[in-house]
Amino acid sequence: ISATISLPALKHNLECMRGHMSRAGRERGRESPRIWAVIKANAYGHGIEQAKQAFASADGLAMLDLDEAVRCREAGWQGPILMLEGFFQPRDIAVLRDYSLSTVLHCQEQLEMLQSAPPGKSLAAWVKLNTGMNRLGFAPEAFGAAHDWARQLLQQGRLHEVGSMMHFARADDDAAFTRIQLERFHEATAGRPGAVSVCNSAASLMPECWASFEPSTEQWARVGICLYGASPFAHRSAHSLGLLPAMSLQSEIIGVQQVRKGEGVGYGHTFIAETDMRVGVVACGYADGYPRHAPNGTPIQVMGVRTRVVGRVSMDMLIVDLSAVPSAGVGSPVVLWGGSGPSVDEVAQACGTIGYELLCALAPRVPRSIQ
Ligand code: PLP
Repeated sequence: ISATISLPALKHNLECMRGHMSRAGRERGRESPRIWAVIKANAYGHGIEQAKQAFASADGLAMLDLDEAVRCREAGWQGPILMLEGFFQPRDIAVLRDYSLSTVLHCQEQLEMLQSAPPGKSLAAWVKLNTGMNRLGFAPEAFGAAHDWARQLLQQGRLHEVGSMMHFARADDDAAFTRIQLERFHEATAGRPGAVSVCNSAASLMPECWASFEPSTEQWARVGICLYGASPFAHRSAHSLGLLPAMSLQSEIIGVQQVRKGEGVGYGHTFIAETDMRVGVVACGYADGYPRHAPNGTPIQVMGVRTRVVGRVSMDMLIVDLSAVPSAGVGSPVVLWGGSGPSVDEVAQACGTIGYELLCALAPRVPRSIQ
């Protein structure tokens, strides 16, 4: 089993997203947002180093983990780096300063830690408003005071930039609630200076989300999933958005069985052969990150032919129907997702999850080759 990470696809996807936004901006006679390439969770499973290389032309990088941010700086990334959850302990502030990392401020405790930190290099900060995701961020009634406090820290030289940000809960599936979140953001930030950041991938593709600000407002989009060639939308494929899959997961057949009609396959016999049939055993299981709950029928490709997973996925193996691929045998190539095989979104959909989860869950034991 191995995964292939395509640097040209990562690059293409960044340019593709930039293209979508700048075309929409031109139609509206305005600039489109700058792009933070979101590379948290080991760049959605693709590897931080690869991502940093492929996204060299992004305006900034956004992530969660301080160690990953330090690695990016040490590997020579000079542009902005946004820490999406900010910091958790006073000692993190020194790391932010040493490596010029921008921080999100989403709770009172962070403001207190900044206020009482020893003087030092100033930071760029983004005050986060909770507009309805109800995850991180100040409530609308607390946002004004938090933003004022951040502006005081700016005057004291502890910060050198204060922006405002929010995160959409349903940009992928509910335009009406997305509008409500946007209105709450406009209301809370009206008259407040500074750049804004509202869009994730889905919202970046909905120009009404970012074109609702004054053209003079500096804007930053935080684009993740689309850069990896998967779609944020259940009903719009990555292909239809012009994106290319950046990860393909492939393996091979390591065994073949002839199964009689009525016999069960795999643990729990969750698949019963409808007819006499050949099945192939693929070297890929849930210990590689393939979802154990992939149901019978999950798409998979063997020797270029689309077929289906049958029976329960086990730790290191899964079983496929070879009825449509009579010439397949031990050593035949299998594509689990990406490349010429089913898209990661199709596999995810069959499994009742999203492409994000499958990409991030790829196990460290799977060797990755860079193309
Ligand atoms: N911004 C924040 C705060 C996030 O948590 C995420 C990812 O979940 C993103 C942006 C990127 O979202 P997406 O991958 O949907 O573009």
